[in-house]
Amino acid sequence: MSHTPADQAQILAQALPYIRKFHGKTMVIKYGGNAMTDPALQKAFAEDVVLLKLVGINPIVVHGGGPQIDAALTKIGKKGQFIQGMRVTDAETMDVVEWVLGGEVQQDIVGLINAAGGKAVGLTGRDGAMIRARKLKMLDLNDPSVEHDVGQVGEIESIDPSILRALQDDQFIPVVSPIGFGPDNESYNINADLVASKLAEILKAEKLMMLTNIRGVLDKQGELLTELTSRRIDELVEDGTISGGMLPKIAGAIDAAKCGVNAVHIIDGRVPHVLLLEILTDQAFGTMIRSH
Ligand code: ADP
Ligand code: MG
Repeated sequence: MSHTPADQAQILAQALPYIRKFHGKTMVIKYGGNAMTDPALQKAFAEDVVLLKLVGINPIVVHGGGPQIDAALTKIGKKGQFIQGMRVTDAETMDVVEWVLGGEVQQDIVGLINAAGGKAVGLTGRDGAMIRARKLKMLDLNDPSVEHDVGQVGEIESIDPSILRALQDDQFIPVVSPIGFGPDNESYNINADLVASKLAEILKAEKLMMLTNIRGVLDKQGELLTELTSRRIDELVEDGTISGGMLPKIAGAIDAAKCGVNAVHIIDGRVPHVLLLEILTDQAFGTMIRSH
């Protein structure tokens, strides 16, 4: 891959319409999957985020960290358990979630973005009293009369985005860990996809991009579905084609699309610079979710 300076100038010039269109707009980025663990992909991700910020787009990063939580739980001899894609979180697991996500993982991402020349600030939902949560009431997908107890897994009650606005107006790049707090200051583990989609709604983001460890949403035959409507999603959930970690992701995606986020994409975080490709070129990636 070698380009002459003239090629390079042309490539940069082709990004101008996208930069003009998205200047001043907020983009919420769910950072998860392999893009979070592979060093070359981490570096490319951080560079993309910084580049977006420097051309006047406001990226807000929300990170996951399932594999990192699993690794920490294994170290203390606990095994992660999931019901309908949600991690069962007892008090001990919650402590681990809080120090792994709000500590190690968040600060690694902050460091990566800073190393690429940005000014990242790490936050959990407790910072700036941002994410109020309550215990999730989880009904069985097949039999709604059955309720599952997944412990300190939370659902979002409300979000106060003022801390994010203050940071992004001031050249900082917020990195949000998906932890909320309840009325007694208790902590809740919230699925990062749901935090990202709610933030995108509340901030009236132009785009919500969910980086994952797969090409996008796949059909029964393993083919990529490039576009999905809410009706088709219902069918795919009902017949079991969409399962596990894709359930909260698709639920968040459709919610954001219905609540006015212009473009919602589930994209392959294994592709280097997928954010730049998605935002600053006409190349379409992964699965786009439409509200109708
Ligand atoms: P992330 O870190 O992106 O949140 P998750 O493991 O939580 O990753 O969710 C992505 C996973 O969802 C995929 O790796 C895949 O195993 C699973 N999945 C379930 N159904 C589908 C589907 N229909 N298409 C794509 N992935 C699916
Ligand atoms: Mg997930």
